[in-house]
Amino acid sequence: MAAQALILLGPPGAGKGTHGSAIVEQFGLVHVATGDILRAAVAAGTELGRQAKKYMDAGELVPDDVVIGIVREKLAEEEVKARGVLLDGFPRTIPQAEALGDALDELGYGEPCVLNLVVPEEELVRRLSSRRVCKQCGAIYNLNIDGLDVGDKCPKCGGEIYQRDDDKPEAIRERLRVYKEQTAPLIEYYQSRGLLREVDANGQIDEVRARVLAAARECLGGKDQ
Ligand code: AMP
Repeated sequence: MAAQALILLGPPGAGKGTHGSAIVEQFGLVHVATGDILRAAVAAGTELGRQAKKYMDAGELVPDDVVIGIVREKLAEEEVKARGVLLDGFPRTIPQAEALGDALDELGYGEPCVLNLVVPEEELVRRLSSRRVCKQCGAIYNLNIDGLDVGDKCPKCGGEIYQRDDDKPEAIRERLRVYKEQTAPLIEYYQSRGLLREVDANGQIDEVRARVLAAARECLGGKDQ
């Protein structure tokens, strides 16, 4: 059977990270989140991190060839092929989607299934500005729901809670602008190929999780891990 690829599409703050984690836990896929990979490279001070940081801090996209290279390498790993992949935050431009299509074909993956998480813009701004993240394990929290703020300890691993630089107001506005201009066209791209499913990602987190998992199950042919 062809290796499986599931793409999570949606604007910043739609819940790709949160629900992506639930999907991989349920279905055993490998979670490939380009934003997480880039943040880890910045934190480690690698050459990739040095290149990526200035774009990320400004809320802009890192150049396509850099991100495509990272994802291609992951997709070629035997473990990723065997377990299947959940792509979170990639593709974000039409050239990325085209490169992904070629890589999936070459590496023996089937047609990807795309879940588009739909959330109204005012809710995205609210979520992003109150999002807090664990520096150590990457767990995602919300100041208003979880009551955790910068400097607190992560309940999961004890790591330090921080606010991403790009979750500050100016960068949020830029990221949403970039999303509309460069990433939203992917909805039409995948819709016209019959690969897209829309998921209402507004509402209580548990309800959204249930909808996302149900859509993922349909995509993956009904198989839990
Ligand atoms: P995220 O964690 O997905 O919100 O990504 C954080 C930042 O990493 C983005 O604002 C971009 O600067 C960069 N980034 C992540 N994924 C991509 C991608 N597929 N293409 C270009 N830049 C990306």
